[in-house]
Amino acid sequence: MSAQHCEISDEGQAIGLILQHLEKQFPKVCATCDRRFHTPRDFLDHTVPVGELVCYDLNGTDAIADKPLGAVALSNCRCGSTLALTSTGMPLAHFQTLFQWVQSESARRSVSVDDFLQYIRRQIRREILRRSDLSGRRESTSLFRRGSSMQAEP
Ligand SMILES: [Zn+2]
Repeated sequence: MSAQHCEISDEGQAIGLILQHLEKQFPKVCATCDRRFHTPRDFLDHTVPVGELVCYDLNGTDAIADKPLGAVALSNCRCGSTLALTSTGMPLAHFQTLFQWVQSESARRSVSVDDFLQYIRRQIRREILRRSDLSGRRESTSLFRRGSSMQAEP
């Protein structure tokens, strides 16, 4: 396995790294009602966030574990089921870099790590909305051509 060098210099880069991982979890399907969420924007529009973004490792003693417990954000589908977006599958180097960044940034801003995570969650939602608004015109025309999906289905 090649070493993935990874450094974060600002907030935008951190959010980009998280989004890059989130996008790999789509399309996402609700196991209860079979609702298919095609994109992060689709997910944002049709689910309600539940609780807080939790990073389990932040409550642990060792900052950088070889097998981090990860982070999870829960949302409710319209059918009432809870869906999870997690850090599972994120390259370890990315997770560790983000982890260190969250710790140093929250200290630098004099906020608690938990508060900073909720702030990041809000920023991620804003960035998803911003990105999909930028490409909105192009995608709205393709909505009427359901046969020719732009996304590769697994
Ligand atoms: Zn559902």
